[in-house]
Parts: sequence; structure tokens; C-alpha cells
Amino acid sequence: MIVTRFAPSPTGHLHLGHAFAAFNAWRRARAAGGRFLLRMEDIDPSRCRPEFADSIQDDLQWLGLDWDGPVRVQSEHLTDYQSVLDGLAEQELVYPCFCTRADIAREIAASVNAPHGPDGGLLYPGTCRRLSAAERAERIAAGERFAQRLDMAAAFRPGLTYHEDGEGRIVCHPDRFGDVVLARKDTPASYHLCVTHDDALQVVGVVTRGVDLKPATDLHRLLQALMGWPEPAYAHHRLLTDATGRRLSKRDKAETLRSIRAEGVSARAIIERFAQS
Ligand code: GLU
Repeated sequence: MIVTRFAPSPTGHLHLGHAFAAFNAWRRARAAGGRFLLRMEDIDPSRCRPEFADSIQDDLQWLGLDWDGPVRVQSEHLTDYQSVLDGLAEQELVYPCFCTRADIAREIAASVNAPHGPDGGLLYPGTCRRLSAAERAERIAAGERFAQRLDMAAAFRPGLTYHEDGEGRIVCHPDRFGDVVLARKDTPASYHLCVTHDDALQVVGVVTRGVDLKPATDLHRLLQALMGWPEPAYAHHRLLTDATGRRLSKRDKAETLRSIRAEGVSARAIIERFAQS
């Protein structure tokens, strides 16, 4: 039986673009007589709020997008993500990074050739990867806070691919992410780690989400391979745009379901728009 999911981060009210993502996952499951799950990716306490998680659920119900089983709330499962980090540490695939943003910027400025990652940002220059075990132990013992980074050179697996709906097998290039952060100093685990763990745990068969998240799939596929998790299929959908062709984003307050509802637009009209998109 097919399982899909909608996995919003409750950092604001449900936006029309995200409702479209929910609709795609819901329709996919319902059309196949499968299960549609709802998951709150609220791992970052500085950005997520319980009231937004509530309002997202309220808006989904209003739209008529019903989900199966209880909502998984990531912040209630921090030990799960810690075990994944422990598993990667046992394989010597993660290392503590003590750098501040300023340290990284300084190091990059001093380097001749600083490569860019898939999001256009500069890759981590690997400063803390080169620390000795003794230096790491000393700094941790001194109470210095640290992030955890994937040692991409050690973790890289050649030849990984994933199945994308309508495209077939796509070759992954997770090395483009460099030594990606899997746990920040102030958050217990990254989006990449939690989303892949939970998709595996919840036996999600088709990951449907906006095409803006497609590049991250290369990294997710690598984490699946490293942890021995099953490989879901992927169906990245286009993003909704406004009348001028501009992508809808959380910044456009007018496009929250809340404000659309307040204007008197019906759930049915929104679902019809989604079905035609
Ligand atoms: N939590 C992510 C977001 O709100 C989406 C996760 C996913 O669908 O992979 O952007």
C-alpha cells in the first residue's frame, strides 16, 4: 500500500504553496487507496511554534485533506535522531565542528578556491575535519559548543541513484554539499537527517514535495545508503506561482490559507485550482 506524507515546518501559517504540496501528497495516496501521513518538522525551536502546528492542522481540515493516524511531531523524538548521529559517529562519518560563522567566513576569504554548494552558498572549508582526536576531546571537555558535520569524503558512495516520477533514475551527486551540518550547535539534528529518518521509519513509499527540495534528495539518498534505510520513490512537483509568475513564498502574507479563508474563498475553489495546476 502506498504511503505519502506532508511534512511542514510550523514556522508560520499554512501558505497556499504548502497547501498545494499537502494536496499533492494527499491526492496521490487517496487515488491509490493508500495512507496519507502528517508530520510536523519542528526540530528548530528558534523558528517553530506550536500555535502554527495547530493552525496548519486546522487549515488542512478546512480544506478537507484528512490524514491517517497520529501526527508525528519531530521535537518529541529527539532520541531517535541522536541514535542516527551515534550510528554515523560509530562509522566515523561525522565530526564535531567548533567554528563560528565568522571563523568560516575568515577561512573562506583566505582560500584561493572556495567551491559553492547546490544552494549557491560557499562550502565549509573543512577546518575542524583536520583537528586531531586529542584536540577534539580537549575542546569538548572545555565545554566548547559544536555542530556535527558529515565527513563527505569518507561518507561518499559512488553510483547512487533515485527514482523520480516521470524521469526515471537520477544520478546523485551528494558530494556537492560538502561537509554538511547534521546537527547545529543550537538544534539537535538537521532537516536532512530527520526527514530521511522519518520517511524510513514511517515507510513512506513516495516522497512528494516541491521541486525546490529536489537538490536535497541527493543528500537524502546518501543518508539512506549509509544508514541502510529503504529507498522511497520521489515525485517533486512544480511550485505554485502568482499572476505575475513569481513563486509564492511564506513572505507573501496575503497568500496564507488564513487570509484567503477570511476573504470568503471556499475550500472547494482552492481544491479545484490545485487539481488544475
Ligand atoms: N519540512 C520541510 C519544509 O517545510 C519539507 C520536508 C519535505 O517535504 O521533505 O520545507
